[in-house]
Amino acid sequence: MPGTGGTARVEVDTTKCIGTGICESLDPDRFEVQDEGFAKVLIADVADGDLPRVRDAVDSCPAQALRLTGA
Ligand code: SF4
Repeated sequence: MPGTGGTARVEVDTTKCIGTGICESLDPDRFEVQDEGFAKVLIADVADGDLPRVRDAVDSCPAQALRLTGA
């Protein structure tokens, strides 16, 4: 299960994502919008130092398609 074991993880619900690219613009190393029109998470594990950036992306997603677990 994501979120167990103390490591924060972020995931995208591709059924909700509308492909705005906001997450990618905020954290291009982690998120990438695919040709199919939805974002892919390139790096799911979130180190403590990256939490503010990932939280910002989660909060900025207009479709509430990003979810942070284990943080
Ligand atoms: S910000 Fe949300 S809706 Fe936009 S591409 Fe990222 S996951 Fe999809």
